[in-house]
Amino acid sequence: MEITEEVKEAIIRQAQADAPIESCGYLLGKDNVVSENYPMTNVDHSEEHFSFEPREQFAALKYARNHGLRILANWHSHPASPSRPSEEDKRLANDPTIRYAILSLLDGKITLNSFKIVGGEVIDKEIHIE
Ligand SMILES: [Zn+2]
Repeated sequence: MEITEEVKEAIIRQAQADAPIESCGYLLGKDNVVSENYPMTNVDHSEEHFSFEPREQFAALKYARNHGLRILANWHSHPASPSRPSEEDKRLANDPTIRYAILSLLDGKITLNSFKIVGGEVIDKEIHIE
């Protein structure tokens, strides 16, 4: 999966603005290229986990469809932990057709990896910002 520089900058800005709370959203695009960030509300307002609101998820799907885009990934930030899925992240990653991207702000250093997670196990990792 490829992510445009504009989208990387957008999610970094969003994550920094929301820190220390975890930030989240969808990465939309087509042909495996992410061209848009769809910011979502972290209804947990937590520093350690996030949840989407079903109505907002539905609106995101509808937006993507109306713009000829697909949800390629869901992303969230780890303000104070590394860019890899927690046990809870793996447990909650229930869509094997999309990727799960995690933007880490740990110690002021920005890293972004995305993962394919099937049955609670990471089966693939891509590095987007080292
Ligand atoms: Zn997480």
